[in-house]
Amino acid sequence: MILETRAVGPFFKNGFVIGCEDTREGIVVDPGDEVEELLAAVAEHRLAIRYILLTHAHIDHVTGVAAAKGALGVPVGLHEADHFLYKAVAQQGQMFGIRVDPQPEIDFFYEGAGPWRFGSYGAWVHHTPGHCPGGVCLAVGRDGDTKRTLFVGDTLFAGSIGRADLPGGDLQTLLRSIRDVLFTFPDDTVVYPGHGAPTTVGVEKRTNPFLI
Ligand SMILES: [Zn+2]
Ligand SMILES: [Zn+2]
Repeated sequence: MILETRAVGPFFKNGFVIGCEDTREGIVVDPGDEVEELLAAVAEHRLAIRYILLTHAHIDHVTGVAAAKGALGVPVGLHEADHFLYKAVAQQGQMFGIRVDPQPEIDFFYEGAGPWRFGSYGAWVHHTPGHCPGGVCLAVGRDGDTKRTLFVGDTLFAGSIGRADLPGGDLQTLLRSIRDVLFTFPDDTVVYPGHGAPTTVGVEKRTNPFLI
């Protein structure tokens, strides 16, 4: 699996380029302010991007959607329960004192688990509300292989959990999403959060102070 992570200020939110090394097809996950770096990684790996997939619609995860869609010309997917946040991206920006350009309309809402395929890989979508109503985990892996890599947005971080005090957030729902969805993956499953360093399911089960 080809995987590139980029993050820039002010939010230092991770954007991802994920690709199939055999077919050079790929996806872009959560393009934000680092979108030009993500597009450079797409070009560097000579990837044909199939989809732009969003883990949720908070401002830091969507400010690069217009530029990514403009450059790549591919559909953008989001969970329908976060559409209200996506449509309010300009107001989200005002809360931070940031002017945000309008973003293009979402092309499709996730229906069921998918997968959304790129080459011999797929991104299976698992609804993980709590940080926001439409938060999802993208479980990426090869067809016929049970191993998955998780892109969890702001649900779970290395040693921490996502905020539950933003509009539509709920702490008990967040903890349930982590325990009943993310922690059902094997302990050696690698987890890429929306901010900060990667971790694994097993490490967070054993050491995350919010979950032990
Ligand atoms: Zn968020
Ligand atoms: Zn975030």
